Amino acid sequence: MNAPAPVAALAPTVKLLIGGQFVDSQSTQWRNVVNPATQEVLARVPFATPEEINAAVASAKEAFKTWKKTPIGTRARIFLKLQQLIREHMGELAALLTAEQGKTLPDAEGDVFRGLEVVEHAAGIGNLQLGELANNVAGGVDTYTVLQPLGVCAGITPFNFPAMIPLWMFPMAIATGNTFVLKPSEQDPMVTMRLCELALQAGIPPGVLNVVHGGEDAVNAICDHPDIKAISFVGSTKVGTHVYNRASLNGKRVQCMMGAKNHAIVAPDANKEQTLNALAGAAFGAAGQRCMALSVVVLVGESQKWIPELVAKAKTLMVSGGTEKGTDVGPLISCAARDRVSSLIERGIADGATLELDGRNPSVPGYEKGNFVGPTIFSGVKPGMAIYDQEIFGPVLCLAAADTLDEAIAFINANPNGNGTAIFTQSGAAARKFQEEIDVGQVGINVPIPVPVPIFSFTGSRASKLGDLGPYGKQVVMFYTQTKTVTARWFDDSTVSQGVNTTISLK
Ligand code: NAD
Repeated sequence: MNAPAPVAALAPTVKLLIGGQFVDSQSTQWRNVVNPATQEVLARVPFATPEEINAAVASAKEAFKTWKKTPIGTRARIFLKLQQLIREHMGELAALLTAEQGKTLPDAEGDVFRGLEVVEHAAGIGNLQLGELANNVAGGVDTYTVLQPLGVCAGITPFNFPAMIPLWMFPMAIATGNTFVLKPSEQDPMVTMRLCELALQAGIPPGVLNVVHGGEDAVNAICDHPDIKAISFVGSTKVGTHVYNRASLNGKRVQCMMGAKNHAIVAPDANKEQTLNALAGAAFGAAGQRCMALSVVVLVGESQKWIPELVAKAKTLMVSGGTEKGTDVGPLISCAARDRVSSLIERGIADGATLELDGRNPSVPGYEKGNFVGPTIFSGVKPGMAIYDQEIFGPVLCLAAADTLDEAIAFINANPNGNGTAIFTQSGAAARKFQEEIDVGQVGINVPIPVPVPIFSFTGSRASKLGDLGPYGKQVVMFYTQTKTVTARWFDDSTVSQGVNTTISLK
């Protein structure tokens, strides 16, 4: 494994956002933000001090006093403006994202766009944060609900979607009347910060959105802070489980969207060309660094004969820097990630899987220092092998086999993860059986592992998710608000007295 690079003193610093000001941290602990295709140091990011984290929370707490009373139309219009600003800056945002994260420029635009969709959704908050009213629940009595913001909420995000996932979080939290402290991934915080600059330009008042940087210590401080009411976390299962347990014990509302091992079933009647294209795109796109990447394909019956064509398709994908035209597979986020993926490929061979395509150490002219692993395919993969049991988070596709659809469904349901899955078939009956019986949050039918659009909610089951409610859609309005139930009766001078009521009934 490469030794960590010394922190580059001359690189620009990533700022904290506290009380509406972008400020330099006083921390003594910093790390480099590195272009994963070239190792160029782009910036230095601080690990915020406890005092800085406290100051960010305090500014959010203070801002909540007025923000919670801001008219819903005012809140909505800020997100209308933000969506316009994001559209105007799409090229710049995508280029920044590619530089620090590695994914290809078109995929980086997709990352920003999927976040932009949530901003558009936040602009419709007037239709979302609605209570209910039941008229005459008893004589002259009405009951209604109001959905009130919680207070200071926090978000902790992973490296793999540095635009989309922060935009899953702060727009909906703020649109519902909360104030927010965001802790982006320390590996690629720059595009997130640019989005926060645009958010302030769109009109988010000082203190309503704050950003701190750091790793484990910052996350633990957020989990423990008494003034933070709710936390949305996206990242690995190990860290997410820790955050869920620690923050829940501190009485916070928590949702954790976590790791994955996404399986697809290929039925023998599937459209072969469409299916092979979909498998290659979902397994190797973003170098496999998507929580919705396809990492296991269960080939049912005759489709097991399609392996050579799948390998041929994977070989056509271009591995290069994300800014090169025609690139399909960019670099992994870090040298450590590349070394981990390479060592898992070695484990796969040692565990007895058949290496159909080896993507280690690809030749990438012009990017000799990049963290590249090319498309890699194993067949004969079984539970108990490290490449099956672990989330690889790289461009490595595991092929398993089943004789029947029932067997394939049971295989997927036996895996601990339940983030996404897909079936490829031309049989409606098979697809419907799959949809009914599979225990996974996101289900694709001839669609390789779909991320739901924001009018629905991102879900997940079993080890992939903790907490009941999703990060956007209708569910997140419930996550970021407290339901208050009001039961009201009004008297005027002509109302006849019913006397004293000593029962629990409303009369
Ligand atoms: P990660 O868990 O390493 O980091 C996530 C966040 O936790 C970061 O902000 C990081 O600073 C912080 N963190 C890291 N180590 C910590 C520790 N020991 N204690 C406290 N906080 C810590 O995840 P990652 O590598 O950035 O992202 C990849 C993971 O995220 C994959 O497992 C992927 O499946 C998952 N993911 C899930 C979804 C989903 O919606 N289910 C979406 C994207 C990514």
